[in-house]
This record gives sequence, structure tokens and C-alpha cells, in this order.
Amino acid sequence: MTSMSNVTGSAGTETAGTGVAGTAGAAPGAAAAGAAGSGEIDPAVGETGVEGSPAAPAPAAAGASASRTGPNSALDAGARDQRAAAAPLRMMAVHAHPDDESSKGAATLAKYSDEGIGVMVVSCTGGERGDVLNPKFAAAVESGAVDMPALRQREMADAASILGISHVWLGFHDSGYHEGEPDTWQLPPDSFGALDPDVEIEALVRVVRRFRPQVMTTYDENGGYPHPDHIRCHVISMAAFDAAADPARYPDAGEPWQVSKIYYNGGFSRTRLTAINEAVKSATGTGPFDEWIARIEESGRPDRSDRITTRVPVGEYLERRDAALRAHATQIDPDAHWFAVPREIEAKVWGTDDYELAESRIPVQLPEDDLFAGLRPSASVGAGSADAGSRSERESA
Ligand SMILES: [Zn+2]
Repeated sequence: MTSMSNVTGSAGTETAGTGVAGTAGAAPGAAAAGAAGSGEIDPAVGETGVEGSPAAPAPAAAGASASRTGPNSALDAGARDQRAAAAPLRMMAVHAHPDDESSKGAATLAKYSDEGIGVMVVSCTGGERGDVLNPKFAAAVESGAVDMPALRQREMADAASILGISHVWLGFHDSGYHEGEPDTWQLPPDSFGALDPDVEIEALVRVVRRFRPQVMTTYDENGGYPHPDHIRCHVISMAAFDAAADPARYPDAGEPWQVSKIYYNGGFSRTRLTAINEAVKSATGTGPFDEWIARIEESGRPDRSDRITTRVPVGEYLERRDAALRAHATQIDPDAHWFAVPREIEAKVWGTDDYELAESRIPVQLPEDDLFAGLRPSASVGAGSADAGSRSERESA
């Protein structure tokens, strides 16, 4: 089993001595037995993982731009932390589980990291109750031969290296996926979704005040999809966005810091999936996402594409995104439909990561093509529609 140390620090991607994880309590290993129980269906991870199709792997990189690592990938975790912290522009992507950062906005993280922006991913939980979605690992995990929490920490460290980013574990426990309406969920009492959110908000505020990002990303009020940890991730991210700037809140958690903008990940909307699927179908005769789209329609989940405010061009970074996703080897079936999409088609049809601006403390002009629009030095060109209007406007908290 894994060591009794808390999750923070054990993957080597957190700066030591933050005290953040200490808020979470029990050790991650305690949850390992739940590894088979949850059935998470994150877009692009769970969904693709369950297919197990014999579809062809993604074609070899067609363009010269395709790369599986970036300039910061060669740095060790500590050097990436330092580099991210010292960058004048910084973003923090808050996610529920390791692998969510690679399935939701990973190409954006790689792009900004390569451009010199400080990028930090915060994983709220260790993903201890995630299902094993790669058939190649399932038997080993079921037999107890694999230390699942430790393995997921290594996977996350690999993904962070590929993306060239800094990574922090917030130190809480995966709640597991639960079917049905939220009021029927029976969450494990020690889990992220069951704890008093105040403890979790303070832990996140501490990280925000230390890293001082101008931009945060999180999930929408539905969690992107109804996993208790995703919904809780939304709740604490929005609360931390407000509280981090308020000197009266959590005075022991560092100097106040005002984050300028917070976005929801747009993820893979039905519109986006359908556009990609149709393009692949007309090129190859096969629609790799047919079943996925049908399941989304069946679920009745609303298509959120009309809420998108910001489309970040990431066509050159799809290979990096895929490489990061593959690093989460237990969570992704390498033969899944997901990887059957020729990336040059995806880049042409939908070469953006999409976001919804949830709140801003600075004036903005929508739509945007840059999460840092309005935040870049005025000399910066081509970085989106930076608002030239008054910067003195300050939203009251
Ligand atoms: Zn997740």
C-alpha cells in the first residue's frame, strides 16, 4: 500500500511545506479498495475508456508542429514550480481528479506554458476511487498487485511533465462516481464531496494566495457532468476566487490576492463532438463518436455551447494533449475511439479549447480568444482582444 504521507508532495510536484494537504486528513491509501466502484464518465476519459474499440490508433504526427513535449518538459518538477511562480502572468486550473486536467483544456495549458505563462494545475483529490479504464491494467489492479493511488500519482507527474506545468495536490479523497440524483448519493464520509467545504475552500485559498494567478479555470455549476467531486470543485473554486481577495477571510492562509478572471471549462459540447464526428465520418466513413453523442443525447444534459465566451486556438497542441492523456494510463484505453480521430481533421474543424467567462474583475470584450485578454502588457500584439478601456473599474467583491 501507499505510504501514510498525504498526497501532497508524494508525487514530487508540490513545493514542500505548504501545509495544504494537512487539512484533508486521512491518507489516500485508505481509499484504494474503492478503485473498482465508481464508473466515472468524464468526457474524453471515462467515455472513451469504456468503449474498448479496436479502432486504429491516431495517425503519426502529420505536421512539423506536432510534439509530445514542450520546452519546459525537460525541467524537473521543482524547476517547473519555480518557473511558473516567477512568471509575470499565471493561471491556475482547478480540477477534481488527476486526468481531468488532460481531458479538459490540456492543450491550453501546454500552449500557455510554452509561451512563458506560469501554469499550475490543482488536483483536489487523488482519484483513488476512479475505475480502471484500461483493460491492460484491470487484472493487475483487481488482483491487488498494483498500488492504485501511487500509480495515479506517477501518472499525474508524467502528465505535468509533458504539459510543462506546475502541479499541486490539494490532498482530499475522491468521492467516487454516483448514479442518480445528488440527494440520493451516499458519499464516503471522508471524501471531498462529503467534507465541510470551508476546509476545502481554505486549502484552495492558501494555494491561490501563494501562486497569485490572474486567471483561474474550473467547472460550471453542474460540474461539467454530475460527479460529486466535479460539483464540489466548482463550489470551492468560486468561493476561493472571492475569498482569496478578502483580508477578513482565512487570515492565516496568506496575503490576500485578487484573481482577475475565472472561467468554466467548455469541454466537449455536443456541438463540438458532432462537428468533429461528422468531419471524420465524411473523411473515413466512420463516426468515432456516434455512441458517445447518442449517450449524451440520452442523458438530457444541456448543450452548453451557447455559453462559450472564449475560444483559445490550440490546434498545434492536440498531440501534447493526447500525450498527457495517455500518461494517465490506467484511466484511458489506448485503443479507444478518442484516439481514432485524425488530429489534423480535429484541428481544422474545432481547433480551439472553449471556455465560459464566469466572473471578471476587469473590463472585458467578448468574445475573446485568450484567457489573458485584458491582462497582457499593452505592447503585446495578437494576444486577443485586450480591452483598451478603463482599467480602474473594480468590481465590488
Ligand atoms: Zn474527474
